[in-house]
Amino acid sequence: MSMIFLPAIENTMLSPTDSPNSALMEAAQRDKSDIKILMLDDEPFMLKLLDRMLRNLAYQNVTGCESGPAALLIVDDPQRCPELILLDINMPAMDGAEFVRHLVAHDYHGAIILVSGEDERVLQSVEKLVRAHQITVLGRLSKPVSPAQLAAALTHWRPAVRNVVIAARKTYAADELRAAIEQGELVNYYQPKVLLASGEVVGVEALVRWRHRSDGLLAPDRFIGIAEQHGLIGPLTRVVMRAALAQARLWQDAGLLLRVAVNLSMDNLSDLGFLDDVVDLASTAGVAPQQLILEVTESRLMTDQRVPLEILTRLRLKHFRLSIDDFGTGNSSLTQLRDIPFDELKIDQSFVHGACSNVTQRALFDASLGLAKQLKMQSVAEGVQDRADWDFLRERGCEVAQGYFIAPPMPATALLPWLSEWAQRRTALVA
Ligand code: C2E
Ligand code: MG
Ligand code: MG
Repeated sequence: MSMIFLPAIENTMLSPTDSPNSALMEAAQRDKSDIKILMLDDEPFMLKLLDRMLRNLAYQNVTGCESGPAALLIVDDPQRCPELILLDINMPAMDGAEFVRHLVAHDYHGAIILVSGEDERVLQSVEKLVRAHQITVLGRLSKPVSPAQLAAALTHWRPAVRNVVIAARKTYAADELRAAIEQGELVNYYQPKVLLASGEVVGVEALVRWRHRSDGLLAPDRFIGIAEQHGLIGPLTRVVMRAALAQARLWQDAGLLLRVAVNLSMDNLSDLGFLDDVVDLASTAGVAPQQLILEVTESRLMTDQRVPLEILTRLRLKHFRLSIDDFGTGNSSLTQLRDIPFDELKIDQSFVHGACSNVTQRALFDASLGLAKQLKMQSVAEGVQDRADWDFLRERGCEVAQGYFIAPPMPATALLPWLSEWAQRRTALVA
């Protein structure tokens, strides 16, 4: 019997890094008896059992369904549409994977808990599929489900309130983004990177957010794509880089030498002028090239590799540091590793969190780490979420860690207070 649950922070439609706001507080205070939950399982006995468990946990608004089509009728009804579905993935007519596809077509925005008698790997692959459809998965429950497992998955859940969901789905016009870039509405958050051996803080990654006038703090996945499609990624990256370098200089002047990493889009690398921009920005800020890390992913396929290759090689010749981001996903390939002289390899978070207890993940993690070591690149694990991840990485000899377990991305002003907190915490973690 096994159960995996995800932190509450991911169970809303907000970005994990958004600061608490009134919508979240409101979500936290909702009465459990109002929250609509739908159970979908072809076994009436399971429905009864889950129903009892949920009611014992104070969830009173619970409905059971024995088939996918019946459940979709409920999803379509605005009065009854659930905020959470407990989904049995092995059903005779419409199986769980097919049901999820329909859910997307029916515009479902609630969360899901997957339930199955199948082995853990099948549950994992269905979870991947659900996530690929941008639906929140609170956990995977293996049958027979215990009340404790269910309670654990739900303890961390805060249903998204309607206004949050609507804000999350809105798309933005290129002109609005252009104005935001020009008017300084983009702000950098910084996420610390620490040495696993000693806990020493070696750098930060700049992660851009849009402080939108009416919609609050928006995560980059809401606007980077728009910037790329409308020729705004150049101005956006310059704004992010200028602010990150200015901040690095302030820290440097305060005696804090931190490498600062900035994410690049492939589109930045199709413009030869970009190289001069980077050089100018660093020298204006008074930051040495070695202190700036440029993180690269392949968000879209480049047909002509010559210009990116030239820019990256010349940046490296000028001693800027290059990092291959999200390594192991479709966006970061072995070909890139062969052709570009990277200094750092960031192992994608999907191989990191939980690797200690998952054989497949661990194999992929080890392979990535092995590559980094053989190619003499600094290894960085992304998405370090708990103590088990931390201990696993130390045991494996990974060099640098980044993730919520250490610190979430934060405004620059929060870094100093976090540093003193970390100074207390790190001793126990490296003992
Ligand atoms: P990334 O560069 O791989 O950044 C790491 C992402 O993982 C960040 O999401 C960060 O908040 C999140 N993260 C950090 N620790 C954890 C953890 O322990 N668990 C989990 N599940 N996630 C964690 P964020 O800030 O939403 O950024 C998403 C992506 O947007 C970034 O992925 C990067 O590719 C892109 N991005 C961010 N800023 C910029 C930018 O200035 N320019 C460009 N072109 N892309 C950017
Ligand atoms: Mg990155
Ligand atoms: Mg990454």
